[in-house]
Amino acid sequence: MASLSDLPIRDDLRGQSPYGAPQKHVRVQLNVNENSHPIPEAVARDIVESLAAAVLTLNRYPDREFTVLREGLAAYLGHGIGTEQVWAANGSNEIIQQLLQAFGGPGRRVLAFPPTYSMHGIITRGTGTTWLTAERDPGYELSAETVVAAIEAHRPDLVFLCAPNNPTGTPVALDVIEAAYEASDGMVFVDEAYAEFMPAHAPSAITLLPDRHRLVVSRTMSKAFAFAGARVGYLAADPAVVDALRLVRLPYHLSALTQAAAIAALRHAPEMLATVDDIRAQRDRLVSELPVLGYRAYESWANFVLFDGLDDPHATFEALLERDIIIRDVGLPGALRVTAGTEQETTLFLEALAALAPRGA
Ligand code: PMP
Repeated sequence: MASLSDLPIRDDLRGQSPYGAPQKHVRVQLNVNENSHPIPEAVARDIVESLAAAVLTLNRYPDREFTVLREGLAAYLGHGIGTEQVWAANGSNEIIQQLLQAFGGPGRRVLAFPPTYSMHGIITRGTGTTWLTAERDPGYELSAETVVAAIEAHRPDLVFLCAPNNPTGTPVALDVIEAAYEASDGMVFVDEAYAEFMPAHAPSAITLLPDRHRLVVSRTMSKAFAFAGARVGYLAADPAVVDALRLVRLPYHLSALTQAAAIAALRHAPEMLATVDDIRAQRDRLVSELPVLGYRAYESWANFVLFDGLDDPHATFEALLERDIIIRDVGLPGALRVTAGTEQETTLFLEALAALAPRGA
């Protein structure tokens, strides 16, 4: 049996680790920020009808421009976003990969503010792009001054901002994004995977798009839309950015089945998104109840909560797993991250955690 080191693999991939969220089939899965609520049965049936029609066309390649899907995504986004400003791929991970293939690569540099979504670094390195990091403010916050100072120090080709940030849940104010744009002459990428969980009054970076041709905002159907298994991510940007991605995408990268499923799901957007309020309520419940158990919970605008104050996060992770509950060890000192699930899942998690570390013990 050969090992990686026996292969003539790229030097810059030696010693790297793959994306590693454990996939375990336990009763309460609160580890990868999925939507715990299944798709409503009636919607599922309609999606299946669309899929059945698409299957009959599978002898042909799909629409390479996935125009109907882009129309649906543009209508969903609103804010006057046109079809020519929207692009989609197999999850927002592939969106990020295409973005880096077009604007990153050997000799180019991404600036990011960890702790942040682990795939940002993995995709950056995978495309041969250099990964530069700068520190956040206390409490994982991000101010315009901090971002601008880091951009001026590093002059990156791309700035990555995760809004709200995974794994901390931290909001990113629009003036921070505007300041990043003004300070840089490269691409500014805002990952809004969790946008639908933000407070209703909070504006999206999409509102900044007009006249900012270096700004890119990505979204996904994996979280609020409860569609992670379908693998649909998308972005909104200047049409010139979309033209740049056409240079690097593989032809027909979105299968006819993916397109059909996503178009049908978008037709049912209100039903697909009906669980967002429930999930927000469970998130807010975690933020208020974790401190009662003696932990510090961070403000979150997403569908998960980071909490710290654990003596041994790994031991807590394992003890919860023994109770059929999986959350996430994101490698931050004394901290774990938990996804806001259904009310019942959240209760099971809080009760199990309370039983592990009785208050005052
Ligand atoms: N961005 C962020 C910030 C995420 O947390 C995730 C998923 N965990 C993604 C992007 C990728 O999502 P997907 O590829 O399923 O769209």
